[in-house]
Amino acid sequence: MKRDFPVTSGGRLRCRGWRQEGLLRLLENVLAVGEDPDNLVVYAALGKAARDWPSHDKIVETLKTIEDGETLLVQSGKPIGVLRTHAKAPVIIMANCNMIGQWAKAENFYDLANKNLICWGGLTAGDWQYIGSQGVIQGTYEIFMRIAARHFGGDLAGRFVLTAGLGGMGGAQPLAGKMAKAAILCLDVDEARIDKRMAIGFLDVKASSLDEALAMIRKAQADKQPLSVGLCANAADIYPEIARRGLVPDVVTDQTSAHDLVYGYIPSGRSPAEVREMRKGDPKVLMDESTRSIVRHVTAMLEFQKKGAVVFDNGNLIRTQAKNGGVADAFDIPIFTEAFLRPLFARAIGPFRWIALSNDPEDIRKIDDIVLEKFGHNQIVSNWIRLARQHVPFEGLPARIAWLGHGERTDLALAVNDMVRAGKLTGPIAFTRDHLDAGAMAHPNIMTENMRDGSDAIADWPLLNAMVHCASQADLVAIHSGGGGYSGYMTSAGVTLVADGSDAADERLSLSLTNDTSTGVMRYADAGYEDALDEARQKKINHFRLPS
Ligand code: NAD
Repeated sequence: MKRDFPVTSGGRLRCRGWRQEGLLRLLENVLAVGEDPDNLVVYAALGKAARDWPSHDKIVETLKTIEDGETLLVQSGKPIGVLRTHAKAPVIIMANCNMIGQWAKAENFYDLANKNLICWGGLTAGDWQYIGSQGVIQGTYEIFMRIAARHFGGDLAGRFVLTAGLGGMGGAQPLAGKMAKAAILCLDVDEARIDKRMAIGFLDVKASSLDEALAMIRKAQADKQPLSVGLCANAADIYPEIARRGLVPDVVTDQTSAHDLVYGYIPSGRSPAEVREMRKGDPKVLMDESTRSIVRHVTAMLEFQKKGAVVFDNGNLIRTQAKNGGVADAFDIPIFTEAFLRPLFARAIGPFRWIALSNDPEDIRKIDDIVLEKFGHNQIVSNWIRLARQHVPFEGLPARIAWLGHGERTDLALAVNDMVRAGKLTGPIAFTRDHLDAGAMAHPNIMTENMRDGSDAIADWPLLNAMVHCASQADLVAIHSGGGGYSGYMTSAGVTLVADGSDAADERLSLSLTNDTSTGVMRYADAGYEDALDEARQKKINHFRLPS
């Protein structure tokens, strides 16, 4: 059956209430803006919205019939059943892709996925919080701006940024780079991805050769004009070629799906179509080829670093794959979280987002105004909202992301719930956040690398976070662990709340959002970060300090 992937607009309910309807619209939305919706894939190569189509259809059917006081259980994208709970309990609780420690390896994941026993939810795919490339764009922009502040006097005007990967998340890079005023070159082996980013206004131009791309970049640098250039080519070929020519970009990173050697990364010399065929055979062959290419790719990144470029890992496990392939110094490249974002996370400032369930962009614009009114003094937030308004096109349901912290998130959500109640917005608003948030993720090679107290690999924090949300009346709560190449590398928690203008929504927004950032601050305070201890003191978060 050929399916369409529309988003639903307006105020007509198909479910028993807005909590259920809102979650259904978010499921539709991740498919509408996803990378390969026919296969339920939302982003990051294998991050899926549901296990398979029968699972998807049963989830939809169930959301249309369950009432407050009933909770749907989802296990790795498959609906398992409905439990009688109580009116303030979550509508859905999910556990996606959690394997037992010694078994949590990519090969076991592929085997279990082939038997249709498991699927990976990515971070925001399986729990329907993905909002298109915008979801990651502010994070990417903030990283670029921190690099600009630290190394280049405030912005990236006249600077050359080299990166690769124009997929669901990586597709945010050209726009984020341009917003930071850079001349940014983005490689992707898949021309369709380049065309898609151009079509939605995230990428300016496509070059037909490396020479042409570099000429465009050089001109933009000389004119100090922001520009994003796409080039269809393999990063494992082009990074070393740029290095061979003696060119040194100012900033280098990568967002190919390097985390998955079989379903993500495309090795040098292979087309995406060829790799799709090879996936049906022995995964080992692709794993070896991808590893060899990543070794060349990262070796060139290290060479750029040695020659003075600011090089960082943007959360795709590329250093880990290179190290496994024999690049002993791969971890000389810093991870973006530790290098640039940890001071924000220590205060539980992270990627908070809201989505207009009525599909009316005006609702988001009105909330932008409220954000500017409330947080105008906050440079990061006010600068971002102004830029996002100007540059970031909506994909699917109109949505906004902004890095807000403890108290701020609750404050905004309650104000928005008031607006819904007063009829100032066309419909309810969903609130959620990335899993890459202070209290919500353990990933020793991304989020929690080099934690001050050495607690990098402890997964208790995201588990506690998810349980806190269940105890705090959230509408959807999910525990995810890594799948594909991320198997065994991470555990995280997701949460979604629907602001439907009710008093009950006031209560759940207040409890869940406040407790979410409280656990974030506690996690960093427990690890000894002074910023977190200060935040806990200032904001009266009831964190215990025990002698260690
Ligand atoms: P995606 O699968 O949608 O896109 C990956 C892109 O990389 C594809 O377009 C593919 O054609 C391209 N590609 C693969 N190998 C290549 C090569 N050798 N040379 C050039 N292009 C190549 O994935 P995505 O959602 O964009 O995510 C990208 C990576 O970033 C993943 O590893 C993901 O887990 C990670 N990620 C990081 C963050 C973060 O917070 N920094 C957030 C989300 C995702």
